[in-house]
Amino acid sequence: MAATGETQPAKHQEVGHKSLLQSDALYQYILETSVYPREPQSMKELREVTAKHPWNLMTTSADEGQFLNLLLKLINAKNTMEIGVYTGYSLLSTALALPDDGKILALDINRENYEIGLPIIEKAGVAHKIDFREGPALPLLDEMINDVKFHGSFDFIFVDADKDNYLNYHKRLIDLVKIGGVIGYDNTLWNGSLVAPPDAPLRKYVRYYRDFVLELNKALAIDPRVEICQLPVGDGITLCRRIS
Ligand code: SAM
Ligand code: CA
Repeated sequence: MAATGETQPAKHQEVGHKSLLQSDALYQYILETSVYPREPQSMKELREVTAKHPWNLMTTSADEGQFLNLLLKLINAKNTMEIGVYTGYSLLSTALALPDDGKILALDINRENYEIGLPIIEKAGVAHKIDFREGPALPLLDEMINDVKFHGSFDFIFVDADKDNYLNYHKRLIDLVKIGGVIGYDNTLWNGSLVAPPDAPLRKYVRYYRDFVLELNKALAIDPRVEICQLPVGDGITLCRRIS
């Protein structure tokens, strides 16, 4: 108990739940039992092609791909946006979940990596749902903000790009997503570094983006325009449902 009389938040062990993922073996168990056997062939192919790419660390994990696919179906998403495509694993999981006339506005500064996955996306018969735009996301979002027809027009937006811009994205996306729609911010547990001691040996980019992720998490937690849920799927995804 703090001297001020404030109640200390209960540690999760004290309230009876342990973190679900106690070990790599348990994660492997999930992948092998529930994810890989149900993974569409095209996603498997894209995952395997991406694994050979030098930046493969950036890809969405198979369990998160499965989660996104199911979530999009649960909310009946039709018009969506993705910021941060890389080779397209999350994009493909989205495209497979949408109805045939569904749309994904896909933004990335790098078209080359998108083209690694594109033949597989085409073969899966879902490329017609994708409108890929090469370039930084922020100016495009500003253009959309200036055109009221885009306001409240997206059912779902997946944000998986430059973490130092997430709060800038949030300022704009909150107007572009419809009321009742969902924004998913990815990597909000930032490799567990959020709770690392100040002197922990973190990789340079992990340390650099950490403060931005901490800032984002704080801002989302008090944003009255959204209901939120931060899930320990992949590297952490925070779902924000717009309520006003
Ligand atoms: N969702 C992807 C997947 O499932 O494989 C992973 C995306 S990866 C973590 C981040 C991507 O964001 C990179 O492809 C990078 O080129 C892109 N990116 C970085 N800064 C950006 C910006 N300002 N605007 C748009 N895309 C950006
Ligand atoms: Ca990610």
